[in-house]
Amino acid sequence: MEAEGNLQLLLQNPDLSADLKHIAEKVLNSERITFDEGVILYEQGDLGYLGVLANYIREKRHGLKTYFNRNFHIEPTNLCVYDCKFCSYSRLLKQKSEGWEYTMDEMFNMVTKYDGEPVTEVHIVGGVLPQYDVPFYQELFSRIRAHRPELHIKALTPVEYHYIFKKAKIDYATGMRLMHEAGLQSIPGGGAEIFHPEVRDLISKDKCTGDQWLAIHEEWHKLGNRSNATMLYGHIEKFWHRVDHMERLRQLQDKTGGFQTFIPLKFRNQDNQMSHVPESTVVEDLRNYAVARIYLDNFDHIKAYWAMISRTTAQLSLNFGVDDIDGTLDDTTKIYSMAGAEEQHPGMSTKQLVELIKNVGRQPIERDTLYNVVTDFTNFEFPETEPKPQYYKLPVIN
Ligand code: SF4
Repeated sequence: MEAEGNLQLLLQNPDLSADLKHIAEKVLNSERITFDEGVILYEQGDLGYLGVLANYIREKRHGLKTYFNRNFHIEPTNLCVYDCKFCSYSRLLKQKSEGWEYTMDEMFNMVTKYDGEPVTEVHIVGGVLPQYDVPFYQELFSRIRAHRPELHIKALTPVEYHYIFKKAKIDYATGMRLMHEAGLQSIPGGGAEIFHPEVRDLISKDKCTGDQWLAIHEEWHKLGNRSNATMLYGHIEKFWHRVDHMERLRQLQDKTGGFQTFIPLKFRNQDNQMSHVPESTVVEDLRNYAVARIYLDNFDHIKAYWAMISRTTAQLSLNFGVDDIDGTLDDTTKIYSMAGAEEQHPGMSTKQLVELIKNVGRQPIERDTLYNVVTDFTNFEFPETEPKPQYYKLPVIN
């Protein structure tokens, strides 16, 4: 394997520091790196070094396969009782005129609009408001399940669950069981931000804590279900906060095995209360994907959102540990464009997405939520004119 050859070559470099050489040897021998070694990677690992290690792990796990899925999003509201400093999406209650609050019927009608479309998942996430409570989501999930049983429901984060369970005066275990019985099948990765209170208290003080976020995922995993995890990076956190974040995830994953995918989310500074904080560079974005791939040795997948980081950076990220670049999009989801993402009007058909992956020598695989292969596009021939582009939306940051 070429990736292994590159790692062997790297190990022969006489200029490599003892620490970096030791970490590279560990990676070659599939040994877990420590917390301190994670910090060393961030502080000393240059782009070339990190890329060699991360790509070795990525190709050992997935070969050239690069995953994407076909889903659509429902964002119940962009109003929120919380006030996260980095959030460009939520409008505070006092700015209600700029917001939307969909009713149960409006959301259900959005689902029926996709009847007959080849989507495998509905992703539901948005702001937090009192009317969206436990009975509301029980009914919504049940109606979707009854209408289209094969559509995978991936919905809400611990931010919403903590709020609605507290309001209903039920514990996390009871709440997650009720959601599961109503038809919920997966939890997306949002709301994690940075777990450490030193950072979390400054950027999103009032919502669930890091420990509560992890506790809710743990209850969900105990029911035999899967979820994802994110990390909002590149703002006021230090490198060790990122390692601390990943360490907490790694420990829970050792315990439950319920996480599927880790999704680093780049902080964007447009139109939010942290506009004065500079954004990370592309080099730092790629380094961060690579460190995540190296550190999270018990996570199967690392995902990048191409619309957030641009198409070319997404292509590059496939050499830095990323094996999933989400899906095609339309521009009706505002969360990333409002935050200043690279693609202000993102849109890519299945054919374009497949070509984007193939153009950098990878194999495009359409997956469902649980990473079962839906279509292997490696040798797929598209008709001259694609009948209709298939578009997918991005999740909100929450
Ligand atoms: S990040 Fe989520 S919880 Fe925070 S203000 Fe925005 S929508 Fe609300």
